[in-house]
Amino acid sequence: MSALNQQETRKRKRLKKRYFVILLLVIFGTGFFVGKSYSARELPSTPDEPSSTQESVDKSEESSPQSEMPAEEELPKKEPIEEEKKPEKLVYLTFDDGPSKLTERFLDILQEQGVKATFFMQGNNLKKEHLQKSVNRAVQEGHYIGAHSMTHNYKTLYTKQQFVPEMVETLDLIHEITGTNPHLVRPPYGSAPGLKNEQVRKQLADAHIKVWDWTIDSKDWELAGNPSQILRNIKQGTTSDREIVLMHEKPQTLEALPGIIKFFKEHGYAFAVYDEAHHFVLNFQNDLEL
Ligand SMILES: [Zn+2]
Repeated sequence: MSALNQQETRKRKRLKKRYFVILLLVIFGTGFFVGKSYSARELPSTPDEPSSTQESVDKSEESSPQSEMPAEEELPKKEPIEEEKKPEKLVYLTFDDGPSKLTERFLDILQEQGVKATFFMQGNNLKKEHLQKSVNRAVQEGHYIGAHSMTHNYKTLYTKQQFVPEMVETLDLIHEITGTNPHLVRPPYGSAPGLKNEQVRKQLADAHIKVWDWTIDSKDWELAGNPSQILRNIKQGTTSDREIVLMHEKPQTLEALPGIIKFFKEHGYAFAVYDEAHHFVLNFQNDLEL
């Protein structure tokens, strides 16, 4: 019996030890968790930080509302970034003094090359009925037709100050022929010195007429039989990301045109046509109203 009793008392002692260890573990464990929860409670009780964190969380939840909205907002944001990445080089090919018997051939080359251009046409040529179908074709194929005066006469236009009435008449004539409503003119011989008279320029601005000169003079009109020099002049003149090339409806220009287009394509230029909705100032008088 005594042996059994001894075994019993040992068992009990062992159990007591185990209970004591478990009790210790429970006490320490509780103390640990209570300590943690206290330190966690301390954070919200500090004044500004937690409340502002809370607010910013709320705001970010508010600013990202239902599912479709953010996707729609992101789309227009992406487009300007892509445009910024590759700033476009633009060249405006311009042809003065038409319409002429060569207009159709100019249009053929432009069509073959997929290039749009800006024409400044002269009233006394626009009146020739057999040339009017070329003017309409130019409009139909996406080119812009602006005015280049009725007479092209320096003395009449600038000394006798017939610039404004002549341009108004030419623009009206273009409207009659094509149905378009252009407001852009190119001054024969350029706006300097011709348009130095401020009052004349004010008359133009009041009539909502815009005036374009150029950035590159190809000097094609004096280079009969020398188309390669026209191309050289244009190459030398090309210095910026936006060029406006002055040319005329001349046989040597027609001959040089494919090479001119090739040159600008190789140098990464896109071909632009004048757009009244995106007008920019380009006159030698630096008149911002024109
Ligand atoms: Zn001219």
